[in-house]
Amino acid sequence: MPEAETEAAPRTPDAPAAALQVKGLSKSYGSNTVVCEVTLDVQRGETLCLIGPSGSGKSTLLKCLNLLETPDCGEIWLGETCLTAPHADVDAARSRIGMVFQHFNLFPHMSVERNVTLGLTSVKGMGREQAREIARLRLKEVGLGAFADQRPGRLSGGQQQRVAIARALAMEPEVMLFDEATSALDPELVKDVLAVMRDLASGGMTMAVVTHEMGFAREAADRVAFMCDGRLAEIGTPDRIFESAEHPRLRQFLSQIL
Ligand code: ADP
Ligand code: MG
Repeated sequence: MPEAETEAAPRTPDAPAAALQVKGLSKSYGSNTVVCEVTLDVQRGETLCLIGPSGSGKSTLLKCLNLLETPDCGEIWLGETCLTAPHADVDAARSRIGMVFQHFNLFPHMSVERNVTLGLTSVKGMGREQAREIARLRLKEVGLGAFADQRPGRLSGGQQQRVAIARALAMEPEVMLFDEATSALDPELVKDVLAVMRDLASGGMTMAVVTHEMGFAREAADRVAFMCDGRLAEIGTPDRIFESAEHPRLRQFLSQIL
């Protein structure tokens, strides 16, 4: 029977598709190459922590991942979508990636709830009532169900950061990126934000987390990647990275902060 021969090759069943793949990514500012040929992947449900000295290119790498910065070369794949393809739909891609920054940038004149619904109504075109329901649910998840009607200015920095996380989650992203989400917070406010991030990680969210919180990296990360001078210098399980680091710069980095 000739039909069998003309059929398309079957897809590999349940291929372990990475949620996010970065291949040979580089980014320079002028003559300064700040991200240099980085190749890495984040598997579905995985939490990858990115650590490294200040200026090593962690933030730039993260910004490239959701195209806030344009890479000079290399590829970024979100599932089966190539974000760096010439005609990639950047807005569509971005809406699949949630990002939480050090500075949460909530709109001060809007209620906490409206801050969370804004992306749903304006970007996704969702009706106000449905958006409110989602916002209430997400705010509850980050422990702020009772604060929906408040202005962000009435909340602590840690609470505001949790609103920012709820805002990102409301969009149902496939991947969450965190860039030093706790670095601007007073020490006593850090733990509640980390607890939310831990819950997300153990709940199966796919996450790439730039952090200086080594306790978090040790406990919540599936793998830890060390960046140094724009390069991915070492990557491995938390045990490997923290107990038997190979790269001299990683050993030095850890000896300074642990
Ligand atoms: P990290 O997040 O690891 O501290 P960054 O990615 O912020 O590192 O920065 C890496 C390097 O790139 C630094 O030397 C920084 O000064 C430089 N850099 C970052 N953003 C810009 C920019 N917009 N223009 C020029 N240089 C930049
Ligand atoms: Mg940074």
